[in-house]
Amino acid sequence: MTLAGRPPAAALVFRTLLVHGPLTRAELGRRTGLSPGAVTKVAAPLLADGWIAELGRPAGERGSGRPATPMTVRAERARFVGVKVTGDELIGVLTDLTAAPLATGRAPLASRDVDSVVRAIARLVARLRSQGGAAAQAGAESPGGVHGIGVTLAGDIDAQAGTVQFSPFLDWRQVPLARLVEAAAGVPAVVENDVRALTVAEQWFGAGAGLSSFALVTVGAGIGCGIAVEGRVVSGAYGVAGEAGHLPVGGDRVCTCGNTGCVEAVAATHAITEQARQATGDPDLTMAAAVRRAHAGDPAVREVFARAGRALGLAMASVANLVGPQRIIISGEGVASYDLFADAVRAAFRAQAFGAAAECDLVVRPLPFEAWARGGAAVAAQRIFAP
Ligand SMILES: [Zn+2]
Repeated sequence: MTLAGRPPAAALVFRTLLVHGPLTRAELGRRTGLSPGAVTKVAAPLLADGWIAELGRPAGERGSGRPATPMTVRAERARFVGVKVTGDELIGVLTDLTAAPLATGRAPLASRDVDSVVRAIARLVARLRSQGGAAAQAGAESPGGVHGIGVTLAGDIDAQAGTVQFSPFLDWRQVPLARLVEAAAGVPAVVENDVRALTVAEQWFGAGAGLSSFALVTVGAGIGCGIAVEGRVVSGAYGVAGEAGHLPVGGDRVCTCGNTGCVEAVAATHAITEQARQATGDPDLTMAAAVRRAHAGDPAVREVFARAGRALGLAMASVANLVGPQRIIISGEGVASYDLFADAVRAAFRAQAFGAAAECDLVVRPLPFEAWARGGAAVAAQRIFAP
């Protein structure tokens, strides 16, 4: 079924129901700013096509149209695949329309060459599709069918154009990834920055659900930040909103971006490893070994983690001072050793957050890469009616 030609209001109503539903027509009107008449007009074809249903009424049956009858999206109406691309692996998840996972899978990347990554994505999508088909319950609609693919990866992503502008760890520039994946998999595809996609997922069904403003800071190979302001995950005019990893916090360490003194130059995994090597004089020290030494009480290595924590705390305070979020969610693979950062993060945050901005709570949330992949599916699901 073609979705083209639907008015932008359909995307708004559908996305609002996805993220906040079930909602009555009156609540939908309040949240979208549409008049009750406009909501009814937009909802009618969505009800007729089975994308949404009135609670307590079989799909496809003519709706009552009463303003007080809650409407909800029909999870079984469509399926999506989310894929997170890392430097050496793909992580995929097949979901229903509400981004609830139906099957997951991982695939190693033999090469970072664009063609081979695109082919690997298409193979993973096919595998998840057949797994999902086998697992389909009787009565599910088009069990093998997938409506859309959401590919997410770190870097400068033009989500509107579906282009990877720059991915440092894949060494890609100007790659029209959405178009390539679409051609290889035969399914419409969208591309999004991985942290922003995770922010969309957290807003929808994670620690950001129900909050009008929150931020997500990820700590790991890079320092990422997604920001939701008044109900919307922001992208910025140039697609790089929320680059908290490149806020300047001083020091003379050179960042991967080429500048000096960025948060990422102090607090990313490779930066911590490098500083721990300098502090211990052991040129072969790994991150895991640095964590062990810090846990064993090595003061020089503990200071490296504390310095990273201070940089992260300053960055989070800057985000809080600028945006005023209710909550900052801290995630990423780095939170596995968050106990080594925690005190310094909180102290720097409290010292630098201005006035009531300090009331923002900091929540640590370990999320596996499957949750990041689910963010890709969430982005794809939220965009289906978007122009
Ligand atoms: Zn930088």
